[in-house]
Amino acid sequence: MGINRRQFLRGAVGAAATAAAAPIADAAPFDRREPKTLPPKAVGMLYDSTQCIGCKACVAACKEANGMPVEQPQRLADWNEGTWDTAEDISGKTLNVIRVYQNGAMTQKDREVDGYAFVKRHCLHCVDPSCISVCPVSAMRKDPITGIVTHNPDACIGCRYCVYGCPFNVPQYQFDQPFGRIAKCQFCNHLQKQGKLPACCDVCPTGASLFGLVEDLQKEAERRMALKPGELYEFPRGKLSGDRSGQVAPVGEYQPHIYGETESGGTQVRYLTGVPHEKLGLPKLPDHSFAAVSEGMQHTLYKGMIAPLALLGGLVVLARRNVKSDEERHKDDEERPS
Ligand code: SF4
Ligand code: SF4
Ligand code: SF4
Repeated sequence: MGINRRQFLRGAVGAAATAAAAPIADAAPFDRREPKTLPPKAVGMLYDSTQCIGCKACVAACKEANGMPVEQPQRLADWNEGTWDTAEDISGKTLNVIRVYQNGAMTQKDREVDGYAFVKRHCLHCVDPSCISVCPVSAMRKDPITGIVTHNPDACIGCRYCVYGCPFNVPQYQFDQPFGRIAKCQFCNHLQKQGKLPACCDVCPTGASLFGLVEDLQKEAERRMALKPGELYEFPRGKLSGDRSGQVAPVGEYQPHIYGETESGGTQVRYLTGVPHEKLGLPKLPDHSFAAVSEGMQHTLYKGMIAPLALLGGLVVLARRNVKSDEERHKDDEERPS
């Protein structure tokens, strides 16, 4: 199986970090730092793949609400300037996509074999975001009350560490712009400040994308999982406990785990799906964040000045070796017959 540039860089960074840490870890085992917890009024989204009809109204609404241009694949641009297609994945121009899982005859929705399913992809607003941990200038920020992770383009220096640090491959750099920026879903923070819903939840006709407090969305997800597959249920639309009438539909046959509850230390987006998560491109991740590991490692390295002292020791050895070889050279010169 081939690997792309991003996977290669992430692997190389991981391998270098592991190699650097190994001798020190043997001498002084490092601890993960304490996991972070949900902010007091954490808002989030419940995406129920079994209720998604793949209409992509959320993709169009996201573009409109965030002023993002359409995607026009290069292969279409040359011969057809007037049309465009929906993006295959998130990019510097697209913050949200609906992707399709397909298998065999594709006769049944939300079935792994001979079935198909939809999955939504955008920022998951991690509880302990790696994008924030790796950003050297604090251009990524997590709101201490709502937990929304935003990006400040004025502070950003374009190093793209966040692109490689995110376990979900979310932040995208606008390579096609002369002054490119990092693009990612900011949970329609600007709309929420006006008392509005995130655009994708607002337009979703079935309630597949649902806005609410994370704690309430978690309970809603657990409630749905406790129902019998096929049982009729009124799925709220827009937001939990809103004034819109819900959509009555049969409950799906869900995978036994609510994705996003634990992955990478937990996220503020929850997924219910009928097809196994990895088949939908939702990566299998440990229940701690990379940020907790790397920050714990840094803390250990700098605790007691281990890393600076090791560096100083290395420099002293190098300097002494150079001095010695200079002395030896002089000695050789003196002994050489003239
Ligand atoms: S999904 Fe990626 S970009 Fe979004 S908060 Fe988590 S680490 Fe940051
Ligand atoms: S919350 Fe807003 S920015 Fe994020 S995917 Fe939905 S519409 Fe797009
Ligand atoms: S608007 Fe709702 S139903 Fe339509 S694709 Fe988006 S999440 Fe699915």
